[in-house]
Amino acid sequence: MKFKTLDELNLTGKRVLVRSDLNVPFGDNHEISDDTRIKASLPAIRHAISSGAAVMIMSHLGRPKAGTYQEEFSLAPVAKHLSELLGTKVPIARDWVSGVDVDLGHAVLLENCRMNLGETENDDVLAKKMAHLCDVFVNDAFGAAHRAHASTHGVAKYAEECCAGPLVAKEVSALTKALASPAKPLVAIVGGAKVSTKLTILLELAKKVDHLIVGGGIANTFLLAKGKNIGGSLAEKDLVQEARAVIDQIESRGGKIPLPNDVVCATVFDQDAEGTKKYIDEINNDDMILDFGPETMSEIAKLIKQAGTIVWNGPLGVFEFDQFAGGTRELSKSIAQSTGFSLAGGGDTIAAVTKFGVTDKINYISTAGGAFLEFLEGKKLPALDMLEKRAIETK
Ligand code: AMP
Repeated sequence: MKFKTLDELNLTGKRVLVRSDLNVPFGDNHEISDDTRIKASLPAIRHAISSGAAVMIMSHLGRPKAGTYQEEFSLAPVAKHLSELLGTKVPIARDWVSGVDVDLGHAVLLENCRMNLGETENDDVLAKKMAHLCDVFVNDAFGAAHRAHASTHGVAKYAEECCAGPLVAKEVSALTKALASPAKPLVAIVGGAKVSTKLTILLELAKKVDHLIVGGGIANTFLLAKGKNIGGSLAEKDLVQEARAVIDQIESRGGKIPLPNDVVCATVFDQDAEGTKKYIDEINNDDMILDFGPETMSEIAKLIKQAGTIVWNGPLGVFEFDQFAGGTRELSKSIAQSTGFSLAGGGDTIAAVTKFGVTDKINYISTAGGAFLEFLEGKKLPALDMLEKRAIETK
């Protein structure tokens, strides 16, 4: 990709608007439960502050209703944590679209950009106002790069100067390197709740990868496609044909798509539900499949062991509950022990990697979920596309 990068620009004395992805998860007491995305955003912010720029940081958080201020979607806890990490106070600006006060060498966090009408519609008027705030726009939000929103796409169209931040540059270079000519066999793992949210990536990966491991509710739909009784498990019956097409595609190319032969199930979906190991042909109508069993995991471990490249997004089971975490834990361990190049991405995957203590053993962890998957599919990410267009114009 040929966009300008932050180190090519002189920021001294300039108003710099940094679009970061500070969309972090929160726990029960509205405490930040994982600050990976905030930490990953620090290099761009530190660089701009230390260059003597007046720095405005812009991000979304969740999906608030546009046009109103909603406390539960406020970035205030992020501003507090950011201040601690940077060792300097980062105040939050609630109404900022028409201008913000910030001194050179300091930073301010702009309140959740999705509270503005027109953000998700990529409204031109809003994008121009955002562009007007700054001399330089820095897009460092790889996690939001697959969305053409005013704060990711429109603003870059109108800003006087724009470039990619260090996180975007690092993500793009790591993913490109791993996927341009991947060491073989290439094994992809796509888990999670629903086929519908990951259907295009499954269809695309079926053409590219040597072996495909599907997990979670996705695997349940694939089991249905194989004619298995899955009882009351989460699945999408209307996507059985698509699942069949993915299986046929992989198998016609000589690849494997291992489906679970033993599983862990329960009759209620609950943190305290008792997990029962069963073979797939023993599933009753009131059983819900919530994890892969140990025999299936040892088959999967063999595939991972032989892999030259491993790409992972999404858990194999309900890993948040310990009794259904075994499959995802074993998968994490296999990937950690593998000699192949491993790439993992997505919020739940990062949470799993952290929970099972293998963060340091994965070669590259992408902060992004949707953008990571769309990049793997080979799609052009609109926000990066705009940075490239601007780089060509200003050559
Ligand atoms: P996604 O957002 O699509 O990546 O899905 C992640 C969620 O899928 C996690 O919260 C898991 O608990 C959930 N999940 C994984 N396996 C299952 C399953 N077999 N049944 C229901 N939910 C599942």
